[in-house]
This record gives sequence, structure tokens and C-alpha cells, in this order.
Amino acid sequence: MNALRPLRTPAELAEAGFVAPERLAGIEAVAERYAIAISPAMAALIDHNDPNDPIARQFVPDAAELTTTPEERDDPIGDLAHSPVEGIVHRYPDRVLLKAVHVCPVYCRFCFRREMVGPQGLGTLSAPAMDKAFAYIAAHPEIWEVILTGGDPLVLSPRRLTEIMQRLAAIDHVKIVRFHTRVPVVEPERVDQDLIAALKASGKTAYVALHANHPRELTPEARAACARLVDLGIVMISQSVLLKGVNDDPDTLATLMRAFVETRVKPYYLHHPDLAPGTSHFRLSIEEGRTLVASLRGRISGLCQPTYILDIPGGHGKAVIGPDAIRENGGCHTVSDFRGGEHTYPPAG
Ligand code: SF4
Repeated sequence: MNALRPLRTPAELAEAGFVAPERLAGIEAVAERYAIAISPAMAALIDHNDPNDPIARQFVPDAAELTTTPEERDDPIGDLAHSPVEGIVHRYPDRVLLKAVHVCPVYCRFCFRREMVGPQGLGTLSAPAMDKAFAYIAAHPEIWEVILTGGDPLVLSPRRLTEIMQRLAAIDHVKIVRFHTRVPVVEPERVDQDLIAALKASGKTAYVALHANHPRELTPEARAACARLVDLGIVMISQSVLLKGVNDDPDTLATLMRAFVETRVKPYYLHHPDLAPGTSHFRLSIEEGRTLVASLRGRISGLCQPTYILDIPGGHGKAVIGPDAIRENGGCHTVSDFRGGEHTYPPAG
């Protein structure tokens, strides 16, 4: 069945054949706590014959989300600890997040901001809150980059986005505007000339960071949406989450990173999954992640290599996880090549 609008309730998911009757009660309990939305493009991608379909796993709720482990946190990457005014997260000196909206076209079951997004989330910034957020950016000349995230900023209308961009245009010290979004993949039809014009309306250099986790998400329609963005001068980079049962094998990861590069999206970050509540069924260990990322070296082009990172729980920023190819060894260094061979590199001088 091809849905024409997003599926948002357990009943709609059951009607579409994504939830078996015996699972419905568990999914209804999940829906009381976390938002649900599967866009028509993603619903059409789900293979009903595959009980482990990696697209379904990302978007169809699972009763496992009701299990919260002691290490999980409502605000896993510490946004609130670094929020000087509503809608702004100022974690690093030269950049801020501007969270204008907490709505998404899909709700990912592993979302790190799942306590903030959705109909019961933090909503859209009010006009006075938006004024304060812009006043904060204007008053901090060290802010070189503004990252619009949320939620998904590309769910805003071109008119609303243009208003935001025009306000950024007036702040000289902001040079880069970055948008973090899933829209080109999950709602590619939304990426039209009006939207692209809005993204560029600040006159600043515009980057779009595309969130996708499985190569099947890069459909012809998604690739065409990315081409429209790139052709009109927007630089695209990727961000993905390493997820058990979705992309935790070398072939899938390699194909995903190649698909990005083929689409003119430079692989940027591969996130280790955050400690978001009810997401332990998606998490693998750091060691497993390192082994997977190490397997990409040599296997696919340098252009395709993402940086594997951990957002340190509590808001302490990002740390590069590795893999570690070089270790100190009695004054020299031992360097591992992509086949596992070891070589000595001499000390300086
Ligand atoms: S699109 Fe991003 S913010 Fe929205 S649910 Fe998915 S991971 Fe969370």
C-alpha cells in the first residue's frame, strides 16, 4: 500500500500492515510516550516480507522502546546544559545550534532528542523567543557558524525559512549557515526551487547535512533532491548513526558511504548511538563500532570515509573514536595498514 500522507498512529501502522495485531498493544504504549511519523516515501521503501527490514527498524515503533536502561538519559548530549537562551545551544565557541522547530517529517526510533521532538515536544520557537535567540547570536561575535537543527528545519515553510535567513543576513560575523535535515531523503518532493531559494536567502555559505543511515534511503527521488540542492550552490555533507540491525555490517556501511559520494554528499560524521531512552536495542559496543569503521579503510575510497564520533554524554562535545592506526612503541610508532600489517615509523630527528 502506498500512503499519501504520513502514518502517525498505531492504528494507521496496523492498517498499512506494519504492525501485526498481537503487537498493537505494545505499540500503543510506545505511542503514549514517543512521537510516530513515517513519511510516504519511507513507507513505500519498507519491505513487508522482511521481518528485519532496516527501513522499518528505523521508523516503525517497537515495544523494546519501553525498556529504559540506567545509563540512558532524557537529554543524552546535554543540550539543556548549554542553552543560554531558549532555542540556542552554545557548546563550542565558534558555533551555535538554532533550534527553531521541534517537528520532524519522520520520527526515528533511535532519536537522541526524542524527549524534545514531536507533538508533545518543545514545539516551535515563539516570536519573542526567536528575538532573544537572534539577539544572542548578534551579541556574540565569536559565532562564525549557525546550525539550524531541531527537529528538522526543512519542515518550515520557505516563507518562514526566508525570514530566519534574512535575520541571519544582518549579522556580519556569521559566515556559515548549516541545516541538519532528513527531508531530501524522507520527503524529497519538498526540496523545490522555493525551498532552495529560502536556504540561500541569508547570502552566507550554506551547507546541508543530510541524515541517512541505509543505502536504500538514497532513492532516485532522494538523489534528485540532493542534485537540485548541489546544482544551486549548496554544499552537502552526511551524518549517519551506527545502528544495530540497520547498518552494522561492512557491506551496508560501504554501500551507504559510496551512495553519499555518488550523490555529491561528502561523508562527514558516523555517530556512535547516543544514550537516548528506550534505544538500547540499537546500540552496539564501541569495540564493535571500531572494528566496522576499520573495515572501511582500504575497502572504499578516501572520499567515502566518515569520521566515527561519540557525543560525550552530558554535553561535553564530540570525541573522535577512531580507529587508532598508530600507537607509540618504545620511542617509535607502530602503524597498522588496512590489511592488518604492522610497520614502524621512526621518531622525529
Ligand atoms: S529527524 Fe533527527 S531530530 Fe527528528 S526524529 Fe529523526 S533523529 Fe530525531
